[in-house]
Amino acid sequence: MSAQQVKIAQHQVVSIDYELKNDDGEVLDSSAGQEPLTYLHGTGGLIPGLEKALEGKAAEDELEVTIPPEEAYGEFNDSLVQKVTTAAFEGVEKVEPGMQFQAQGNNGELQRIMIVAVEGDDVTIDANHPLAGQTLHFSVQVRDVREATEEEKEHGHAH
Ligand code: ZN
Repeated sequence: MSAQQVKIAQHQVVSIDYELKNDDGEVLDSSAGQEPLTYLHGTGGLIPGLEKALEGKAAEDELEVTIPPEEAYGEFNDSLVQKVTTAAFEGVEKVEPGMQFQAQGNNGELQRIMIVAVEGDDVTIDANHPLAGQTLHFSVQVRDVREATEEEKEHGHAH
């Protein structure tokens, strides 16, 4: 019995194991010890550079991909670094660097905001994605590729 090699294309449900490193070789994220990551291909479920690299691959394929910021989480945007005052954090006992908050962006989308510095009442916040401006290095093993169900296609994500 030989399984047909299904190639990754639009509306395939794909499962991958992966390890993500930065330029310094530091591991930033990995599926090790967890279920493989499952996504619906061609719907923006993964960063563009990774979907592009996976296109046409099949189960058991392994790949090493280097993805520049513009095909990952974008360039670092200085205008997303802003100064506010501690008054903006009403109800927070101690405002400290490293804290993360969810805030509503201009288009109503949820934005993650990180406090990068606190000096007296001045708080510097950064709404860039934590991986903005970084070149990403992925090691990927394709585990499974299958046709999406009608329901998954309708929903735009894998079940
Ligand atoms: Zn759904």
